[in-house]
Amino acid sequence: MPRPIKACVRPDAIKHNLEVARRAAPNSRVWAVVKANAYGHGIENIYTGLGSADGIALLDLEEAVRVRELGWNKPILLLEGVFTAEDVRLADRFNFTVAVHCDDQHRLIADAKPLRPINVYLKMNTGMNRLGFHPQRYRAAWERVSTSESIGEITLMSHFANADEGTVDWQLERFESATNSIPGQRSLSNSAATLWLAHVHRDWVRPGIVLYGASPSGRSHDIEGVPLRSAMTLSSELIGVQELAAGETVGYARTFRADGRLRIGVVACGYADGYPRHAPSGTPIAVDGVITRTVGRVSMDMLTVDLTPCPNARIGSKVELWGEQVKIDDVASSSGTIGYELMCALARRVPVTVT
Ligand SMILES: *Cc1c(COP(=O)(O)O)cnc(C)c1O
Repeated sequence: MPRPIKACVRPDAIKHNLEVARRAAPNSRVWAVVKANAYGHGIENIYTGLGSADGIALLDLEEAVRVRELGWNKPILLLEGVFTAEDVRLADRFNFTVAVHCDDQHRLIADAKPLRPINVYLKMNTGMNRLGFHPQRYRAAWERVSTSESIGEITLMSHFANADEGTVDWQLERFESATNSIPGQRSLSNSAATLWLAHVHRDWVRPGIVLYGASPSGRSHDIEGVPLRSAMTLSSELIGVQELAAGETVGYARTFRADGRLRIGVVACGYADGYPRHAPSGTPIAVDGVITRTVGRVSMDMLTVDLTPCPNARIGSKVELWGEQVKIDDVASSSGTIGYELMCALARRVPVTVT
């Protein structure tokens, strides 16, 4: 028998969360962001939940081709654009919309002489300082691109650094003044801005993390009032039980010491499955539907839990690492990270079922 660990992925939850995003931005069209293989869920696994999206956005060309081959005939956006002339040929052949964030990318497209003009998202660096044209050089870039035979529709795009804190106006002002009187559609909003900042919605929003049911800020209480459903459950079982006497320690480096007698369970899940090794003692976890806490260090293939709140638990008891009972955001914040990272880090060795 294989180890009892498994991930369960729910396309219906994605479908539901997509509607939540759409209701939050009712006047915008929606790019469903599925980069990093749908934030670790597997594009093929969740594909049936994406049907109502107006477009699919990602950044890996091979994933984009897979999405077309699944039968998606609405727009597909490559968020980092093209890297090689071969990428331009594929974008041409599969009708991808591509980000253009620098002159080199524009040149790559023009030099490849696509058969049909390629639609682009012309990206402005409004302060994130990753990709995009500086606001002062944006209009000139737009003029070059808009007179190029290889370029079709141009959408004006930027990305926020701080939308989960609500502080976007410093970037918005740069965007507005640099694009003033440039025609074309606009796209600015990630999940946080889609949920919380109606004044920046514009023509297309780009929600990612909320589609999977986690918080854009990494804090679960920030989405308490939002009816999102978690799209992934990571579960396993107890494969061992130990009775500790007062003063005994658990696991590597002996970071946890029992105050009194303590019954603990050993779960078939470790950092080689994608569970964060930095999760300290006290990280929430559910055993037989009861919330309890981890104790001691996470090992490669196992971790240990306090069975005090679930005295009937035994070998074979069901454990939820994250999902509908245990919020992924709470496991992440306990471990010093965000839900995004945990989803994306789900290990290849964990079998995924779709329900
Ligand atoms: C990843 C990404 C998004 C989605 O971000 P979330 O915080 O997951 O909603 C939107 N736009 C761009 C350019 C991105 O790279």
